[in-house]
Amino acid sequence: MELTVLGKYGPFPPKNSATSGYLLQTENANVILDMGAGTLARLREKISVEDISFLILSHLHFDHISDMGVLSYALAFSKRKEKLNVYLPNFDCKALETLKSISEFNLIFIEEGKLYKEGEVEFCFYKMTHPVLCYGVKLRCNDKVFAYTGDTTVNDNIKSLVSGASVALCDGAFLQRDFVGVKPHMSVAQAVGVTELFDGRVIVTHIGEGYNDCEVSDEIFSLSNRAELAVEGKTYKI
Ligand SMILES: [Zn+2]
Repeated sequence: MELTVLGKYGPFPPKNSATSGYLLQTENANVILDMGAGTLARLREKISVEDISFLILSHLHFDHISDMGVLSYALAFSKRKEKLNVYLPNFDCKALETLKSISEFNLIFIEEGKLYKEGEVEFCFYKMTHPVLCYGVKLRCNDKVFAYTGDTTVNDNIKSLVSGASVALCDGAFLQRDFVGVKPHMSVAQAVGVTELFDGRVIVTHIGEGYNDCEVSDEIFSLSNRAELAVEGKTYKI
């Protein structure tokens, strides 16, 4: 299994960057996790849109779904005949209405606790805590397990989500110096703290506006040697 970071920022992209979007590849599957602003161009550096196996949207905030519209155009122009399965929360909002109107997508509403299977990939969802309905997802292929939190604050489901995974991609949007009051995301330190819940590595992502990679990376390395900062364009072995 390999994970490529297409975009790692929120809530909007810095120069020459993208918001949340990831390509998870197994031997025979290309799975997209979120499709934020700027991710389609990055995706096309790796694969053709005809070769997307299925797509998961953790939630319906724009920094996770912005490129769904242009993806539908790319699919319409492609040789692909079948609709693309899109797993997403059933959260009533204008974005959902728009997605429902796109004929290239086959929308599948996420059911927590259900085990899904597409080809060689098994996956299940865990409800996270965020201002809108959001699910983390655990994906398994053969003996490899990967987990993604989507956007979340600290909650009891994270332990189940990351259990058995060798890599967990975790929302860590704020440095500790800015982590005051009620926030809709984990801090970098809380994302790194997920390493205490399982035996694998944490990749910290969804980096907030105004930070540079060096200061985020410094904070991560000061806390754990089992966590690292997501790097756009980088491919990680799972
Ligand atoms: Zn969000």
